Amino acid sequence: MSHTEAQSALFPSYSRYPLSIVKGEGSYLWDDQGNRYLDFMSGLAVANLGHAPEKVKKKVQAQLDELWHVSNLFHIPQQEQAAKLLTEVSCADVVFFCNSGAEANEAAIKLARRYHQKVKGTGAYEVITFNQSFHGRTLATLTATGQDKVKDGFLPLPAGFKTVPLYDLDALDEAISDQTAAIMIEMVQAEGGVYPVEPEFVQALSVLCKEKGILLIVDEVQTGMGRTGKWFAHQHYGIEPDIFTSAKGIASGLPAGAMLAKEYLREAFTPGTHASTFGGNPVVSSAIIATIETMLEENIPDAAAKAGDYLSTALHEALKDEPFVKGIRSLGLIVGIECEGPVGQLVLEGQKNKLLFVTAGTHVIRLLPNLKVTTEEIDQAVSILASIIATHTHNQKEAAK
Ligand SMILES: *Cc1c(COP(=O)(O)O)cnc(C)c1O
Repeated sequence: MSHTEAQSALFPSYSRYPLSIVKGEGSYLWDDQGNRYLDFMSGLAVANLGHAPEKVKKKVQAQLDELWHVSNLFHIPQQEQAAKLLTEVSCADVVFFCNSGAEANEAAIKLARRYHQKVKGTGAYEVITFNQSFHGRTLATLTATGQDKVKDGFLPLPAGFKTVPLYDLDALDEAISDQTAAIMIEMVQAEGGVYPVEPEFVQALSVLCKEKGILLIVDEVQTGMGRTGKWFAHQHYGIEPDIFTSAKGIASGLPAGAMLAKEYLREAFTPGTHASTFGGNPVVSSAIIATIETMLEENIPDAAAKAGDYLSTALHEALKDEPFVKGIRSLGLIVGIECEGPVGQLVLEGQKNKLLFVTAGTHVIRLLPNLKVTTEEIDQAVSILASIIATHTHNQKEAAK
């Protein structure tokens, strides 16, 4: 089958920007016309160490010379080491590797069900999540997601999920029953608009889960791996989830996901219960190892916290008198700028001015620079943003006359 030039051989499931990016290095990307862009989206929180980070590239290249893939029917030393490193920087004791965020959450849901049904013998299966959350696009994870738009046209949805409003302890209390296996939550609702969840609520949730024997799952797919200024965002909250998940930034751009859990959950995934052909293969595991080693050597979570403070302060200063801006929310280097109206046009204006960023919902500008971003790069991005927002406000005023 041939295609006309206007008709792609790809499903139109993405609305794509009119740019083709062909090269990346550090904080910069280049399009096929040779234009250079300052990247404040990092492939959606993936290129946390910048594009093509040297140590990761070297380690992956060396691994490519040795062995690309081997089945999980064999011991994979790189995978063992990647898991060990992850347990050293977090409260987790055991790790399962997969290939994406949705798969990591899917594994978390399966682990929670199996733990209740086979280890504890309670028969519980239900997972409670929160409005405006985002947990992925597989049937189970889109059902867990608290946004109707991702479910549209995909009925019937799998059973065993309930969604309640965030902060509504009464609704939560009502939703909890003997069937409840787990509660799943993001520490910062990222896709939902960059809402850091209030510490009191997270702590109350953690206590409630312990009291009732419910597993607490934290979805750290976007917030993990240093993004918020700690290795994992739940470390800001002084809690230890039973299970948490990671993906996006974990392998600096190679496709990988991880489901991490406490020791007492180990026996719920006995041989044959869960698997992934590619999960934790030698190449992606090398990328995970090199990513973590770089983060340790360069103290990246701390750098992200400092850069986050600097960015947030600079944005508050530059946008304080801007009527279009209603508020700025952030935790480390995930930043949301809540605006008075839709911000899709501003993303395109940013691209024209060689600054890349994304939205979170219709009214929120989302900034996700890499975690090694410099103060000069932040100053430059803030100045471009302030100027395109000011022009936008001016044009809207003119249009209203
Ligand atoms: C991106 C994301 C996912 C889904 O990850 P994929 O790798 O696209 O499957 C799940 N949860 C959160 C919080 C995310 O940001």
